[in-house]
Amino acid sequence: MADMIRTERLVKRYGRVTALDGLDLTVAPGEIHGFLGPNGAGKSTTIRILLGLARATSGEARVLDGHPWQDAVRLHRRIAYVPGDVSVWPNLTGGEAIDFLCRLRGAGRADGDYRRERARLIETFQFDPRKKGRTYSKGNRQKVALIAAFAVPADLYILDEPTSGLDPLMELVFRSELHRVREAGATVLLSSHILPEVEQVCDRVSIIRAGRIVETGTLAELRHLTRTAVSFAANGSTLAHGATPVIPGAHDVEVDAGRVRFSLDSDQVTAALPELTRLGVQGLRIEPASLEDLFLRHYGDDLARERT
Ligand code: ADP
Repeated sequence: MADMIRTERLVKRYGRVTALDGLDLTVAPGEIHGFLGPNGAGKSTTIRILLGLARATSGEARVLDGHPWQDAVRLHRRIAYVPGDVSVWPNLTGGEAIDFLCRLRGAGRADGDYRRERARLIETFQFDPRKKGRTYSKGNRQKVALIAAFAVPADLYILDEPTSGLDPLMELVFRSELHRVREAGATVLLSSHILPEVEQVCDRVSIIRAGRIVETGTLAELRHLTRTAVSFAANGSTLAHGATPVIPGAHDVEVDAGRVRFSLDSDQVTAALPELTRLGVQGLRIEPASLEDLFLRHYGDDLARERT
């Protein structure tokens, strides 16, 4: 089957700012594709072009079987979109806003499936649909867009940092909806700057930096990029004073400011635990690599060059 999203050498300039610099992104049918990069990398610009909200300076973009700019009306019936910062109509209730957004995608008031899905989502997202838009917090505005997106089946869900402002419980609800629509055969493009979120839900990931895709692959293929930082108190273990521990899979072991620090490949953490237990370590801290760390480790030289 053809790709659901395909961009080739996509360029977008805003005056002297190059937001996209030859972006090649491919999203296959039926996958949850993570679109990962730090703020300012070009995620929203890409998504705006895919939705036909902005025009590329050059390059090609295809979404489903059409052109996002020329075929916008036809394509939008099959696309559900959630932005990272949702605006709602101040004078409509949340329920009215959901109905309005869903009508644009073909749902009717008398449509039994829609009424059932809407009621189910309002309950699982613990949303009060009777209040006026102007009274909603950021998290509640986000829920309006998420409920509207998931209440009407779509072929393609384009979600631009959709969980900003949601509490952890609601993130779980969000994830279970993602899995549900994927089971139903839909495709999802999920932009995020949060690595653990992407790790938990995505089949494939593309990493964007400075308007280009710098890595793309399955999580297993990208696993080599992520390392977990581990540290423990240097004086709290059975380790001889000043000795450097030998821990299976550890990289860059150092003793600094009274703590032993090292990094582990993310899939090696459980293998190292027995040795840490044997050493009787205290004050153990295990921190997954942040996306920023990952970028600095892989692209630090480039970033330093750009700044000079
Ligand atoms: P992300 O979504 O990854 O945070 P964006 O796509 O919002 O990144 O931004 C990419 C780059 O393009 C940034 O340098 C941003 O300042 C710039 N940019 C985005 N939109 C505009 C605009 N409308 N006018 C000028 N510059 C813009």
